[in-house]
Amino acid sequence: MKLYGATGKLIKGQTLTAVPCPHCGNGVHGSFGILRYFHICRIPIFPLAKTVGLECVNCRWLLLDRQIPAALRTALAHRLFDRKSQLPIAEESLNGV
Ligand SMILES: [Zn+2]
Repeated sequence: MKLYGATGKLIKGQTLTAVPCPHCGNGVHGSFGILRYFHICRIPIFPLAKTVGLECVNCRWLLLDRQIPAALRTALAHRLFDRKSQLPIAEESLNGV
């Protein structure tokens, strides 16, 4: 195991019906966030990148960051990257998800 470096974790969000899928037209998406952060001995020091995404529940088409309308992207980022989700050893990172 490295003592320091960059790592990331997946934060699962709510199911949304805000935008139609550009691939199949289905309106239901699962939301998620990917938080990349710099760590020393697995203790997060500072975040490197925060990416939000939507996945179509029908065809699994992905919309990432700039493909999501700006207002929705901002709202998603607020909801997904709260203080609790950025704590060091959340269950998601322990399970390797
Ligand atoms: Zn789709």
